[in-house]
Amino acid sequence: MALDAVQSSYDCVVIGGGHNGLICAATLARGGRSVLVLEAAAQVGGAAVTREFAPGFRVSAGAHLLHLMPADLLRELKLESHGLEWAARGMATTALLPGGAGLSLGAEAVQGGLSAQDAHAYAVYTARMRRFASALAPMFSRPPPRLGTTAWADRIALLRLGWQIRRLGRRDMRELLRIGGMNVYDLLEENFESAGLKGALGLDAVLGANFGPRSPGTVLTLLYRLAAESAAGATGLSQPKGGMGALCNALANAAAASGAAIRTGARVAGIRVAGDRAVGVVLETGENIDAANVISSADPKTTFLRLLGTRHLDTGFVRRVNHLRCRGLAAKLHLALNRAPAFGGVSEASLRGRLLVVPSLEHIEHAYNHAKYGEFSAVPVMEVTVPTANDPSLAPAGHHVLSAIVQYAPYALKEGWQSGRQRCLDAALDELERYAPGLRGSIVGAELLTPADMEQEFGMSGGHWHHGDLAFDQFLMVRPVPGAAQYRTPVEGLFLCGAGCHPGGGVMGIAGRNAAREVLNGSLNSP
Ligand SMILES: Cc1cc2nc3c(=O)[nH]c(=O)nc-3n(C[C@H](O)[C@H](O)[C@H](O)COP(=O)(O)OP(=O)(O)OC[C@H]3O[C@@H](n4cnc5c(N)ncnc54)[C@H](O)[C@@H]3O)c2cc1C
Repeated sequence: MALDAVQSSYDCVVIGGGHNGLICAATLARGGRSVLVLEAAAQVGGAAVTREFAPGFRVSAGAHLLHLMPADLLRELKLESHGLEWAARGMATTALLPGGAGLSLGAEAVQGGLSAQDAHAYAVYTARMRRFASALAPMFSRPPPRLGTTAWADRIALLRLGWQIRRLGRRDMRELLRIGGMNVYDLLEENFESAGLKGALGLDAVLGANFGPRSPGTVLTLLYRLAAESAAGATGLSQPKGGMGALCNALANAAAASGAAIRTGARVAGIRVAGDRAVGVVLETGENIDAANVISSADPKTTFLRLLGTRHLDTGFVRRVNHLRCRGLAAKLHLALNRAPAFGGVSEASLRGRLLVVPSLEHIEHAYNHAKYGEFSAVPVMEVTVPTANDPSLAPAGHHVLSAIVQYAPYALKEGWQSGRQRCLDAALDELERYAPGLRGSIVGAELLTPADMEQEFGMSGGHWHHGDLAFDQFLMVRPVPGAAQYRTPVEGLFLCGAGCHPGGGVMGIAGRNAAREVLNGSLNSP
């Protein structure tokens, strides 16, 4: 991005031009602050970028589906007037079944040869989960309350959450309490008969997470995802035209239009501190930039341990950051194809949606077992999209791109990724071939990004797509760690704004906006 800064002193410097960093910058600039975004990579977007992976074939290299960014945020930043176009909105979800059939999972109904009992249970289950999700959704848009303070803002935030849950009524409240601590395997076993349906519904509880369906707390992770979707309002399951990178380019345009400067290829080497407060950053080149506030969208381990340095933090805080769990377990598969993939039981319309390769809950659990012992799954589970079905501009005419999240692929593979990569890729292709016979014969290019590659390419510690597990002990007022959960950090003038803080990862943007509001609400010193 050729928006070179001429100043060397700003109200706010934002480290990282992923979507959260850009949203934070746009919000600060709209609030009248002078803002500079410093992005290490050659393009903005972080793990939401579009790039070429085979000659003439482009793909959203990290995140491939937009479903968590609030519709009001998209409107607020006028992204459509800054270049955002949609290739698809309201995309469907289809669970592929062995033998060539498919289940079509709608918001309220499921279709595809299920028993009348499952069809009825689906309507009841999805309506109940939606009610729970909308009760939890309001907590996303605000900083999480601090515990044990006498501040009214914290008390009101806790009361508000309590009131939302109280409004569910006695039956729902009791049910929410009952299922809140359960694992998703038991919950789905209680409700459904069909193995394929249970597998498809269970995947959303563990996608991108260090869990199998029998892991404790997986109902909570599922509810969290549903609450984030509820907070996103009308956004739905969407694909930006030109891939996720096009969304981030529109965010960069919105930030620039509000006055923010953006420098790419500008890696921050350290956060400068004077008199116990952050006063700016130093780049890898040795260039110093002064700022009254430094807001980091890099993950918490990178921010505190590498950019700030432990000498500025007390040992208890450093221990908590060291203990943050952020080892990724998901790989990303990109295929360049010379024809459209032919999945059994999938219509042309369904090919434009989200396809799930998850035969059963047991299958997910078996796939997860490998990861516990440092191996990739012999038969992985996958979330697949064919982005060219909605956006032919991503490949040469008549050709296609397949993009899949492949679980489980541990960051620290026991045998090492150098020897494991091809075998993991083959395992994923073998599984896809079962559902789309002939797929292998149409492949003209392939890429598998492991968590270790993602750490390298996107700068995420451990290659974890949420910058840290989204789990009960890393949610809300303990995300990423106590002492930094309200975007402020123990060092005055240093804030966090990335996926590692509340409400977490995914292309949501709320962390970036919430953090900017905290900066704007606080006293802002001039550099
Ligand atoms: C394989 C994969 C698939 C995913 N699929 C989905 C999906 O389909 N839908 C969804 O909603 N989410 C998905 N996600 C999650 C989502 O992509 C991330 O949670 C999100 O991109 C995080 O955004 P962020 O802005 O907080 O951080 P990031 O995107 O990680 O951006 C942080 C930025 O900081 C920069 N940076 C780091 N250190 C420095 C430094 N020292 N100096 C300057 N810059 C620095 C990095 O280069 C990066 O650009 C996926 C993630 C992955 C990896």
